[in-house]
Amino acid sequence: MPQSDTGKLVDELKTRAEALGFDTFGIARADARPDLPEKLHTALTEGWHADMEWMAETEERRGDPRRLWHAARSVILLGVNYGPETDPMDLLAEKRVGNISAYARNRDYHDIIKGRLKELAGLLARRAGVDVKVFVDTAPLMEKPLAEAAGLGWQGKHSVLVSRKFGSWLFLGAILTDLDLPPDQPHAESCGSCTKCLDICPTNAFPGPFRLDARKCLAYYSVEHKGPIPREFRAPMGNRIYGCDDCLAVCPWNKFASISREAKLRSRPEFERPALTDLVQLDDAAFRALFAGSPVKRIGHARFLRNVLIGIGNADDQTLLPLVETRLGDASPLVRGAAIWALRRLDPERAEALRLDSLAQEDDSSVRAEWDGVV
Ligand code: SF4
Repeated sequence: MPQSDTGKLVDELKTRAEALGFDTFGIARADARPDLPEKLHTALTEGWHADMEWMAETEERRGDPRRLWHAARSVILLGVNYGPETDPMDLLAEKRVGNISAYARNRDYHDIIKGRLKELAGLLARRAGVDVKVFVDTAPLMEKPLAEAAGLGWQGKHSVLVSRKFGSWLFLGAILTDLDLPPDQPHAESCGSCTKCLDICPTNAFPGPFRLDARKCLAYYSVEHKGPIPREFRAPMGNRIYGCDDCLAVCPWNKFASISREAKLRSRPEFERPALTDLVQLDDAAFRALFAGSPVKRIGHARFLRNVLIGIGNADDQTLLPLVETRLGDASPLVRGAAIWALRRLDPERAEALRLDSLAQEDDSSVRAEWDGVV
């Protein structure tokens, strides 16, 4: 394709991307980050991926887009601003309220972005007669370093993409094509001497700048981890019932951020400060109905209740005890275990009074361990 035609095509794609609701657009060569395979290998060797085995299983493809699709020549990176209306950290002090991460307070962004990416990719395919593939956090593609290469921002010391214009709040999607498109300038790392995101982390999940150990990350435990939350992370979870925004929210670049222009990504009122007392009473059907279309639904009812009960255990409010006790008989061992922890936190004497009778009826070894464990 002649260079002038490629330039016109890129202009058309940018205009269409903006009309589709994308807030930022950049192009990188598919081979722009030859450093990635080694970095990824180090992270996996160190075990920073926790039990997300799919990361190790896809290591070879993940490190290089051309291993995902050998014909790939260029990657178009697109970002959607999900800037929240309020500082997500404001809620941390409200102990009776569940704190849901800013990215999950409305519709699942995958559902919103994917159709738009496909439409844009379709335009590219039709205009240039080329092959395209669309990715939105659904395939082993390292969008963040590629977005840095495409000039959208840089990977901050917390490893998430930071934008001069949108701060910490960008969802990313990518289109791979076998067409050579003119690449944008990579964005320079612009953290300087700042270490706010590393310092704020309640569980010291950063072994160093630009490194995140998921085995210590509350976002990982509250969303990805399927079993009981390890004891040492329960008190630091506070009222974070889905995700953790601390390292994102504290970034000074957020002063340039703006509220998302996408209504489906702005907080739904019922997700802004939901009462833990309401959430712990949701049955499975009510949970599914309330969180239909939201990322929260993906963790399922039992994991959700696990998180809510830990929030209640951290609420320092004995009036919540009756609600905790109703979950001691829950069908899920995960929920029963979290309820025991909450009970023991809120009222150790009441827990001791219930312990022997409960143990006599309990078959599950992990739940039995909760009755005897350290709070
Ligand atoms: Fe970089 Fe500071 Fe933002 Fe962390 S908080 S990403 S160190 S600028």
